[in-house]
Amino acid sequence: MPPGEWTALLQAVSEAYQAADRDRKLLENALEVNAQELTDANKKLRVFIDNAPVGIVMLDREMRYLFASQRWLRDRQLTIQNIVGKSHYELNPTLPQHWREAHRRCLEGATESGAEDPFVRPDGSVIWTKWEVRPWLDTHGTVGGIILMSEDITERKRTEEQMRIAAVAFQSRDGMIVTDQRGIILQVNQAFSEVTGYGAEEAIGKTASFLRSGRHDATFYRTLWEAIMREGHWEGEIWNRRKDGGIYPEWLSISGVKNGHGHITHYLGTFSDIREPREAERKILELAFYDPLTGLPNRRLLLDRLQQALIASTRNRQFGAVLLLDLDHFKTVNDTRGHDVGDQLLIEIARRLRTTLRETDSAARLGGDEFVVLFEGLNEDKMAAAITAEAIAEKLRSTLCQPITLKGEVYFITPSMGVTLFCGQGEGGDTLLKQADLSLYQAKEAGRNAIRFYNLAMQQAVDVRVEMEAGLRRALSHGEFALNYQPQVDADQRLVGVEALLRWHPPGLAMVSPMTFIPFAEACGLIVPIGRWVLETACQQLAAWARDPALRKLHVSVNISARQFRQPDFIDQVRTTLQRSGARAAGLVLELTESLLLDDVEKVIQTMQSLKAMGVGFSIDDFGTGYSSLTYLKRLPLDQIKIDQSFVRDIVDDADDRAIVKAIISLATSLGLRVIAEGVETTAQRDLLVASGCEIHQGYLYGRPVLADQIGERPLPGAPS
Ligand code: C2E
Ligand code: CA
Ligand code: CA
Repeated sequence: MPPGEWTALLQAVSEAYQAADRDRKLLENALEVNAQELTDANKKLRVFIDNAPVGIVMLDREMRYLFASQRWLRDRQLTIQNIVGKSHYELNPTLPQHWREAHRRCLEGATESGAEDPFVRPDGSVIWTKWEVRPWLDTHGTVGGIILMSEDITERKRTEEQMRIAAVAFQSRDGMIVTDQRGIILQVNQAFSEVTGYGAEEAIGKTASFLRSGRHDATFYRTLWEAIMREGHWEGEIWNRRKDGGIYPEWLSISGVKNGHGHITHYLGTFSDIREPREAERKILELAFYDPLTGLPNRRLLLDRLQQALIASTRNRQFGAVLLLDLDHFKTVNDTRGHDVGDQLLIEIARRLRTTLRETDSAARLGGDEFVVLFEGLNEDKMAAAITAEAIAEKLRSTLCQPITLKGEVYFITPSMGVTLFCGQGEGGDTLLKQADLSLYQAKEAGRNAIRFYNLAMQQAVDVRVEMEAGLRRALSHGEFALNYQPQVDADQRLVGVEALLRWHPPGLAMVSPMTFIPFAEACGLIVPIGRWVLETACQQLAAWARDPALRKLHVSVNISARQFRQPDFIDQVRTTLQRSGARAAGLVLELTESLLLDDVEKVIQTMQSLKAMGVGFSIDDFGTGYSSLTYLKRLPLDQIKIDQSFVRDIVDDADDRAIVKAIISLATSLGLRVIAEGVETTAQRDLLVASGCEIHQGYLYGRPVLADQIGERPLPGAPS
């Protein structure tokens, strides 16, 4: 009870008594609880006092009981019969001396109080009390005795105690997080900040997911929360990310904290960084698993990691690779320049390995000048995995080839590499190392400073990729690319636009189809400069046609790869290309595929909106073959949908395709988009499309892709004469 209320209650009690109970006899009657004899005022007073959250007792000068409230009796395990005619001291022979003195001073007119005193009850149990005593005055104005009020604060004391204990426990060496039932962090301790690098103010108010390392998938977290929901508890190893970006394993235990009704109100997480055992333990671990010279994992740890990688690849069906690397002619350097120089070179090689690898790869030193790199999660497709592994290996090779300067001397070190792929646990770690070793031998045979794959088909796929990449680079710098344009016509067979289609003519060889080389250009990133060239060439053409009265209204559609579109400077690229060429933005249509929408749709929409604001139009290419969700489609600032040629091809014979085409057209109409059909080859297809409501067409019926100067030269063959 707040102090103000205490005083008011006391005041009310003592005044009420003075007014209504001048007669002591009446009071004695009151003690016998003879309800009939109580006056109305007394009844009310009684109810009032009995309901007060504190115990109240009135004593005479000899400390005999005149009155006791229900609360007082209950708190002290007494009944009214226990106290009739008794004095307070008779009932409580062990009452402490300082209380007796307080009573005495009170009889002399003073008011006394205590904030926190224990009281031993008849059964020996202890309650904690907050109390106050005041004198009461009789009709003559002299002190007739004392009124004692006492509040049971045992429960509050216990809570405070628990909080104090909890506060001490919270300062433990383990990191701790307290969240509410939604997972919002309410409190973290010092150890949390030491391990994660985040201060309390940075963590409070967020959910713990900001610590996620990205090492676990959604299933992991779902299982974790299911366990907490079911059993109220989860414990296990989890990888989190520190503020400095480093990731580390911790042993985490999460418990739900329930309230009195059994509902979870909070979660408590405690964890310890298991990568930082005590110094001595760490040293031992290091010696057992790491190479002392370079600090890289040794053979033992590598085999262990390889085992883990094999298990993981069984689960996620992703190919990984083991790459064995050996430095060319290292022995000669070591023998002629001394071991000191040799050691320094190895340390530098290890450093370059570490900085070149992806986060998911790991390097180890087997001994001497032999290193192993383990690649994980390359691809589900074997050939694609081989190509990625080769690309990383090539990057490693060129990094390691950079000159190394030691004590003023420059060394040129080249590596030879053997690579083998794995998926699942079919092959053991030792076998994989042997395979890699065999291919390493072939790399040495091939003249060193080379990369060889264990499997012939893999090697061939990689060779094609290497050739293709070199070819595309040359094509870019030697101007071997050209653009063709294919007409697009409206219902009246009028030429309304063209699609720019890329062609590659390697000198002395047959033309290479974009179907073949675009996937390679995408994989190695060359699609970005190639795409830029296409955009520039198409815009120049657009500007040129603008000067021709017959073709001035043509639209030019340009195919844009997802990778090109995602370039951070793509918007600028389009803007400067338009400016430099003098082409009008409204004449340019960018053809995007649905694969673009597979990730970060928000970003895609933003980029599209910026371009749209310039006046550029958008078409979704190959519509119906991809993953488009209608909700996304509605949010994209599109102008046109292009029905994929596979539906057009069979529209005459296949009722399903006809139905799909109709559905696409009605969807487009409801979204206010234009529809264009590609791959229109026959008049039968044309008539069906027109009947379904699709009026813009592109296909061999109207014209094959041709050079720009042939566009608009002669009447379109599909046009009715
Ligand atoms: P796409 O964007 O779907 O282009 C339409 C393809 O269908 C073109 O093949 C075109 O020649 C062909 N085609 C046109 N009319 C007909 C027809 O009536 N019947 C049949 N059977 N085919 C027809 P192309 O030129 O070989 O291009 C193939 C793919 O290469 C394109 O498919 C596009 O995905 C890609 N591509 C072409 N040029 C570029 C470019 O500049 N950049 C990017 N990123 N990709 C391009
Ligand atoms: Ca296209
Ligand atoms: Ca297409």
